[in-house]
Amino acid sequence: MKKIRVTIWNENVHETEESALGDLCRSFYPHGIHNYLKEALQAEDLEIRAVSLDMPEQGLPQEVLENTDVLMWWGHAAHARVEDALVDRIQARVLSGMGLIVMHSGHYSKIFKRLMGTTCSLHWREVGEKERIWKVARRHPIYEGVPETFVLPHTEMYGESFDIPDDGKVLFLSWYEGGNVFRSGVTFLRGNGKIFYFSPGHETFPIYHDENVQKILGNAVRWAAPEVYREPWNEFIREGHEKIYTENPLAKVDTSALHKSV
Ligand code: ZN
Repeated sequence: MKKIRVTIWNENVHETEESALGDLCRSFYPHGIHNYLKEALQAEDLEIRAVSLDMPEQGLPQEVLENTDVLMWWGHAAHARVEDALVDRIQARVLSGMGLIVMHSGHYSKIFKRLMGTTCSLHWREVGEKERIWKVARRHPIYEGVPETFVLPHTEMYGESFDIPDDGKVLFLSWYEGGNVFRSGVTFLRGNGKIFYFSPGHETFPIYHDENVQKILGNAVRWAAPEVYREPWNEFIREGHEKIYTENPLAKVDTSALHKSV
């Protein structure tokens, strides 16, 4: 069996900072969210590596990217430190087929905003309120083994309106104790790549310890894995599949020859 090659990228900033927030974060994720998820998602069909921003080439040298079928992304405080050239390379890889799973505050990452083309802004509140998550589509592979609804006892509220494009398929809807609602799980297709955004996952609550959250992320990895990679194409085709009778007013000019790349 060919394993799905998963790379979990984490900025790893909160987990390494000397502060009360850092201590709290380390109490749930002593080796970082990326290494925690690597353990939690471990399975026969997955080959998982965990990388972080502080590693050479920001954790994603081209060789790693080219050997990644699904990239998972967690960022919050250091979005601006991710180099634009790396964002270009990730985008190209997604368009040719790599899956991308954007988690929690990654909604504001350069790569997510680039692929969405919108601000990806939202409302938020951090008071440790309850979140109830609902499955709202009829059926989807990401639902496998997940109950119709489940609760996270303490969470950060992410609320509507969420500025993402309308072509996303909403899989999960969250309701919060404070009354807000949020499209907490949404899929997108970009080029040949599949994208899943999933909001639960704040650094100072043990949300990735939740078995339903882990199940959803594991299912998402398998859903987002590409069957094949295809390079985007742009090809000139002189002949039609049917005979073209309409007379070309520019017949004396070979317009195709005018389109030479410069
Ligand atoms: Zn957060």
